[in-house]
Amino acid sequence: MAYIQFLGAAGTVTGSKHLINTGDLQVLVDCGMFQGKKEWRERNWQDTPIPAKDIDAVVLTHAHLDHCGWIPRLYKAGYTGKVYATPATIDLCGVVLPDSGHLQEEDAEFHNKQKSSKHDPALPLYTLEDAQDCLKNFVPVAFHTPTQLSPKFSFQFVHAAHILGSGMAEITIQLDSGAPRKLLFSGDIGRMRDSEATTPGKVVRTGPEAVADQASSVLVMESTYGNRQHPKEDARPELAKIISDTVKRGGTVVIPAFAVERTQKLLFILKQLMEDGQIPHVPVHTDSPMAIKAIDIFLKHTEEYSPETKELIAKYGSPLKWPGFYFDQTQDDSKKINSMKYPMIIVSSSGMVTGGRVMHHLMHRLSDPKNTVLFIGFQAPGTRGFTIKSGAHSVRMFNQDVQIRAQIATIEQFSDHADTPELLEWLHTFQKAPGVTYLVHGEPSAASLLKAAIEKEMKWHVEIAQWMEKVDIA
Ligand SMILES: [Zn+2]
Repeated sequence: MAYIQFLGAAGTVTGSKHLINTGDLQVLVDCGMFQGKKEWRERNWQDTPIPAKDIDAVVLTHAHLDHCGWIPRLYKAGYTGKVYATPATIDLCGVVLPDSGHLQEEDAEFHNKQKSSKHDPALPLYTLEDAQDCLKNFVPVAFHTPTQLSPKFSFQFVHAAHILGSGMAEITIQLDSGAPRKLLFSGDIGRMRDSEATTPGKVVRTGPEAVADQASSVLVMESTYGNRQHPKEDARPELAKIISDTVKRGGTVVIPAFAVERTQKLLFILKQLMEDGQIPHVPVHTDSPMAIKAIDIFLKHTEEYSPETKELIAKYGSPLKWPGFYFDQTQDDSKKINSMKYPMIIVSSSGMVTGGRVMHHLMHRLSDPKNTVLFIGFQAPGTRGFTIKSGAHSVRMFNQDVQIRAQIATIEQFSDHADTPELLEWLHTFQKAPGVTYLVHGEPSAASLLKAAIEKEMKWHVEIAQWMEKVDIA
């Protein structure tokens, strides 16, 4: 019996990992890491339900950690196959995965020093070296290039318009029982609106690809913003006001941001606001070695960018050469920022404050009301970012309770995920309803509201995927 089993991103937004088992082939679509609440993170230590060595291939939709971050662990568990991804995704994974391995090692070291783990010694999920090793097995697959994994199993990537290199995986399986089955895994779905004003964080030219003549038997789709609508106003005036007000108070703006793509796009927006006189010329510190490495990848893969983004790149060139923009490579550079008292902007990762250098900056700046912490991305429940954003008075960092007295601000427009109206707009591009739609990658409330919205508007058969559930595709 052929089935899909949801090994992650079911009941939560992280850990995307879906196993397709056709009997003679076992393929994982995405192999992401669980983040956020401990009950989810602990699942990063569990083995796959079938031995890793028996999995034949991994098809990877994009380079976010919650989709690719478990790949080195899969290899550690005995996987010997390939990982298929677009060229830009592979370039980004070359930065993201080793950094993740490095953070795992740092965390384990910290817990061993503090004796704060129940495991003795605390071990990393994988190391920087594990991550570097597994990258050798990545195989580039361009968009719209059908790739045969076996005589009966093929796939191709179509544009998801979520981040650089992001694709949806269209899979065709020839089952012994008859007609071919088409499965569409959306991965994360980008914004539909093609306006630089309403989606300044959107990097790619068009929305997710229309699903023209694909009669999908099964659609597995994300539901991150299944219960929300993004604001439609241009975010830049608000961004300028937040920065200007903080600078006037003599404070610093700390922006936790995903190191890859989001940080680069934000730098271009900050540069533009400064050049246009919308914000004062204060130092901008990008404190994330990964974000610095990703700048060249960002500049290299211009093929998917919007005309506006291309124009900005042509006009301003590499951020690494801009005066007043500092790129802090070493730990020492990073520590120096702590003693700087004048107003500045610090862009640092991780975007959900689950680790990384942004933790140190928040430790130093959160308790001063002059400062602002600005969130520009999704904060999963259970993460420190979520705690800070939701108005808590303190947050636990490095085994201490840190008081939150800084101003907390949020700008939603930079989201790279379609909101509910946009998701429905994309579904309207389907010429034929899928046999069944499984919702993944959403908190339970978002998934159930999206289910209701799709049933009402599209009259489709929709199910919410449950963790470890197996669904028949025969
Ligand atoms: Zn993503």
